[in-house]
Amino acid sequence: MSYTHNDFKYIDSHCHFFPPQIFEAIWNYFEQRDNENKVKGWSINYKLPTEDLVKILESKNIKYFTTYNYAHKAGVAEYINDWTYEFNQKYKNSIPFACVWPEDNNLVEYIKKAFDEYDFYGIKIQPLVQNFYLNDNRLYETYDVIIDRGKWMTVHIGTAPYRNQYVGYKNFMNFFEKYPEMNIIVAHMGAFEYDKFLKLLDKHENLYLDTTMIYIPNNIFPERETKRPKPDVLLSYQDRILFGSDFPNIPYDYENSTKGLLEMELPRTFYENIFFNNAKRIFKIS
Ligand SMILES: [Zn+2]
Repeated sequence: MSYTHNDFKYIDSHCHFFPPQIFEAIWNYFEQRDNENKVKGWSINYKLPTEDLVKILESKNIKYFTTYNYAHKAGVAEYINDWTYEFNQKYKNSIPFACVWPEDNNLVEYIKKAFDEYDFYGIKIQPLVQNFYLNDNRLYETYDVIIDRGKWMTVHIGTAPYRNQYVGYKNFMNFFEKYPEMNIIVAHMGAFEYDKFLKLLDKHENLYLDTTMIYIPNNIFPERETKRPKPDVLLSYQDRILFGSDFPNIPYDYENSTKGLLEMELPRTFYENIFFNNAKRIFKIS
């Protein structure tokens, strides 16, 4: 039985929301051109004002969505988190996450505010762009707060679409061996080191992988199609996989985010789990 996008409701566990002027800067960065006039990253399909972005998600059957963002320098994380709080007040179907910057003197202070006053679900870390290690001792106190409050950490630690010195399985394990009890979501299913991250699921029940940009028709991640986990693997880990899209920073129509998954023609319960039920359970959405 083949399904279409509209046959399901969704929680998108990998959406980005930034203050508009920062979004603008990120989109410009993605679309920079090299000497041969080729786009360095990719062009963005959804460069729109915040309220329009939310409307688009709602029109695609997205019932809840995360607000992942990140700081790129000292002194801006708290401002972004305050903005995310306002955003969440306005859009109750958002799942707010905080951002951090290790050099900030008030890091632990604003993280406690994000959790205890704002009721955020966790933090998002992006070592590929933020250029620090997960196992950075300036973050240890923040990690202790995350564990103490039972919050989540989402991390882009895989080597796709490109790598730097801060990403990769080894860097993840340097951190994870110290904090094996933390609730973690590994973005992009750990691409390209899928197998290593999948294996960790057997031992760590608080570890999840998101499908962001893996099962899409466009070749954004080179090698993706040959290496990405096969249907039998997805089925066996169907309680530990979360659907994510990377909206709005995607160079294709939103429906392409579910297309490759739906084309596998797996059982309806599988789709219900990864599209909705797993995220509903871990984020305690009633
Ligand atoms: Zn992302």
